[in-house]
Amino acid sequence: MKVIAIDIGGTKIASALVTFDEAGACAVDHVGKVPTCAMEGGPAVLVRVIEQVRARLEDAAGEEISGVAISSAGAIDPATGDVVSSNGKMPGWGGIRLGSEVTAATGLPCRVLNDVHAHALGESRRGAGRGYASSIVVGIGTGVGGAFVGGEHIMLGAHMEAGHIGHVHCAEAAGMPCDCGATGHLECIASGTAITESYIRFGGVGTYERDGETVPMDGAEINRRALELDDGNAIAAQQLAGFALGSVVAGVCSMLDPDCVILSGSVINCGHYWHDAVAQGFAETAMEPLRGTPILLASLGDNAPLIGAAEHFVRSAYADI
Ligand SMILES: [Zn+2]
Repeated sequence: MKVIAIDIGGTKIASALVTFDEAGACAVDHVGKVPTCAMEGGPAVLVRVIEQVRARLEDAAGEEISGVAISSAGAIDPATGDVVSSNGKMPGWGGIRLGSEVTAATGLPCRVLNDVHAHALGESRRGAGRGYASSIVVGIGTGVGGAFVGGEHIMLGAHMEAGHIGHVHCAEAAGMPCDCGATGHLECIASGTAITESYIRFGGVGTYERDGETVPMDGAEINRRALELDDGNAIAAQQLAGFALGSVVAGVCSMLDPDCVILSGSVINCGHYWHDAVAQGFAETAMEPLRGTPILLASLGDNAPLIGAAEHFVRSAYADI
């Protein structure tokens, strides 16, 4: 079975042909990427999405396409394919009837999943979590997101908000204001953005020279400073973030007891200071029977949401659990 998979984010729209063979393997071909230009508004983004579907249809060169599988930013109602709401990074995206608009324009059936959920489903079923019955997937990048995948299903929750591990309270972030409006949440201390903020708060510089230009400090440079320069502020910022993450993940494991934990996102590219701190935070917080829960690293990279959306389409098995 072959589907067109689309991943709609705040900065880019990725697309591909995803093929599942009879042995259960999947292949991703004809990957395309275009800018989202989200500030042009929801209807303009929808036009670009449909253009990408048509471009991949041409790539398929007459091969049978079963439908369109979409991973999208924003709160998504998977039953209808509607974008229920979106944040300020995608103005006017909320309210777009994405699934039915794509079907109307192309004649193809369409199923839509939130991008965090699609990413988690892809990694759980086809990536690092393959062979495990259930997993908690935690994405650590600009923010911190997550999902619980049990069997074929993603836990959605009563308000479609299940899995927001970045907005669990943690001691290390006590009193810090969070983007969600509350205080003291994991994201305030464990996201990539937070690592840079901690580095500067600890006394590190806010800019550095790259290719002859002065640019704002970033996670990759902090990681280099930790590993190559033994920069104490860089090491401390990574350790604080990693320990907080590990301890909150352990708490969530106490609640859900998954077969594995999968870490993904740009922050997993940090070196050993961060990884060791995650392991330490987990070990110090986890209940004894859960201490052996495997903590795995994501393996699908940018293809995870495309594969997850396709998996969702193919299985048509989305349900709350
Ligand atoms: Zn929060």
